[in-house]
Amino acid sequence: MALIVQKYGGTSVGTVERIQAVADRVIATKNKGNQVVVVVSAMSGQTNKLIALAKDIDEQPPAHEMDVLVSTGEQVTIALLSIALMKKGAEAKSYTGSQIKMLTDSAHGKARILDIQCDNMQKDLQDNKVIVVAGFQGIDELGRITTLGRGGSDTTAVAMAAALKADECQIYTDVDGVYTTDPRVEPKARKLDRITFEEMLEMASLGSKILQIRSVEFAGKYNVPLRVLSSFEEGEGAGTLITTEDDEMEQAVISGIAFNRDEAQLTISGVPDKPGVASDILGAITKVNIEIDMIVQNVGEDGTTDFTFTVHRNDYVNALDCLTQTGDKLGAKKVYGNDSIVKLSLVGVGMRSHAGIASTMFAALAEEGINILMISTSEIKISVVVAEKYLELGVRTLHSAFGLENDGTLSCI
Ligand code: ADP
Ligand code: ASP
Ligand code: MG
Repeated sequence: MALIVQKYGGTSVGTVERIQAVADRVIATKNKGNQVVVVVSAMSGQTNKLIALAKDIDEQPPAHEMDVLVSTGEQVTIALLSIALMKKGAEAKSYTGSQIKMLTDSAHGKARILDIQCDNMQKDLQDNKVIVVAGFQGIDELGRITTLGRGGSDTTAVAMAAALKADECQIYTDVDGVYTTDPRVEPKARKLDRITFEEMLEMASLGSKILQIRSVEFAGKYNVPLRVLSSFEEGEGAGTLITTEDDEMEQAVISGIAFNRDEAQLTISGVPDKPGVASDILGAITKVNIEIDMIVQNVGEDGTTDFTFTVHRNDYVNALDCLTQTGDKLGAKKVYGNDSIVKLSLVGVGMRSHAGIASTMFAALAEEGINILMISTSEIKISVVVAEKYLELGVRTLHSAFGLENDGTLSCI
């Protein structure tokens, strides 16, 4: 008998009909002799609606009350799915984050899981029950409700699978696997049968929202077999298996293209080139709790230096404010920014053993007249920042330049 954790995202439980379909799939899995734990998200759109309600009252509502509010979305779905399962004759029991004692730290809105108490659940599973767990939520040591960040139900599912030593964690969503890039942007994107944890982690960190970053980190760390599948497909597809690198895997040089439209770029130019200047500029930004992503520094011949860096677009106004103040202090020539940019990234473990990827990338973009604003590289990725208007063209150009497409068929709603 295998223990399977299945996670269903917002669109997969977006209507009563979809919830009924999820119940059928859960029962089918159970009828094959498996124990099943189901983790669900809020019905699609609900989390955004709850956030908007709060923001109608206060643009910056207290984070701990936001967690009380947004966690209600998942509570609705666990009840509805349990009702559907019971109506169809299965024994089911719903659990909120606090009922399973999903202990997290107290970082409201982006809490990290510390511990899960599995005793009650083990007993329910032995009693032949399907367990239905609210994704995205936990409690801290003070008993306050916390949430794990947007898309956090993925992490709940992987954490449950790790804690219960499940045989597989299946992430059901509205596409039938991980594609070479977001199929909504490049319809010729190809489904991958497998992708390594390392590549999936890069894809997620660089903006692919198919899996929350922490869920991939967790799965890699605890060796949880992780699969992405469609809940809209009849029967059982194979989806995409996230796996450790092995010799048998055919190694494509590039596995995928990620993009991130959530960034903004800031520049400070003409500051004295001397020790401590980077720390003055970037330290001031991190001091106001703004995370910096890419950084480029250029030193001019006149003894001054320029810094360009990116931050989350939500932090753009505050970062520009802070940088302007630093610029005044340091006597900068100019401080300016641009919040209409995107970051495009090529990801692939095969890059380690292949030269010339960057030059192919830059030439392909140049041929389409796409100007590169920033570049950053690591062992298995190359990222460029370009104007936002080039997102689709850039992704499609790179997809074709690296031969990632197939015959163009795609099963995505
Ligand atoms: P859920 O609500 O099930 O958690 P998400 O919206 O979080 O679903 O994730 C699924 C979406 O991720 C897809 O609809 C797709 O548009 C997007 N996506 C982004 N990058 C990729 C990729 N490389 N492969 C597949 N889907 C991707
Ligand atoms: N409902 C939460 C969100 O919309 C968590 C999730 O769906 O994973 O971000
Ligand atoms: Mg998601």
